[in-house]
Amino acid sequence: MELTVLGSSGGCAAPGNPASGYLVTHEDTVIWCDAGPGTFMALMDHLDPADIDAVVVSHVHTDHCADLVAFYGYMAYGPSGVIPVPVFHPQGAVDPIASFVRAEAEHLFFMTLDFNQVDAGDTVRVGSMELSFALTNHPVPTLATKFTAEGRSLAYSADTGPGGGFPELALGADVVLCEATGVGPRGPQSDEYHLNAGEAGVLGAKSGAALIVTHVSPTVDSALVISEAAATYGSDPLLALPGLSIRI
Ligand SMILES: [Zn+2]
Repeated sequence: MELTVLGSSGGCAAPGNPASGYLVTHEDTVIWCDAGPGTFMALMDHLDPADIDAVVVSHVHTDHCADLVAFYGYMAYGPSGVIPVPVFHPQGAVDPIASFVRAEAEHLFFMTLDFNQVDAGDTVRVGSMELSFALTNHPVPTLATKFTAEGRSLAYSADTGPGGGFPELALGADVVLCEATGVGPRGPQSDEYHLNAGEAGVLGAKSGAALIVTHVSPTVDSALVISEAAATYGSDPLLALPGLSIRI
């Protein structure tokens, strides 16, 4: 498998860095995981959008899903013609996204995007990859996803606070792509729905995986994120930045 970072900026796109979005590929299978603002444009540097076999939308916070509307426009009216693309999503995700184009039944939107709700514990196969899901600790239904092919695996946290289903999903993964939105120790003012860098490091260490930290807020110094994550992980993690591509 290969992971390519399209964007990693936490909460919103930042100069030179789209919001959350990744390509996960294995052989001819291509999955676009999270469609944050700027990621659709970024992915066209890597492939023809018509080659996407499936999209995973972790949740309906706009920094993870807004470019699904851009993708719809391209697939509905672009050169490829309409090819229904499976979109795996958590409960409650379709109506908010469809409302951007006022899509009702029979709308081209639903012929272009083939929405498939998945829940914790579900497993689906896309081409040569298997995807399994857990629900995270976040204020809207949010899917963490584990991608597996040829016995290798990548676990992606999406957005999560401490707890939830991600720590168990990540156990034994070869690579953990984990959000590290903030820095500093957890205290009464900490965001209960996001991890700080030290917590991401703990999660990486417990899972026994190579750690990549992502979803760093643009207001936070990424060097501090690396050093705080390293203190609990045991060594420097990788920082997800656009264009980073690693084999798993
Ligand atoms: Zn979120």
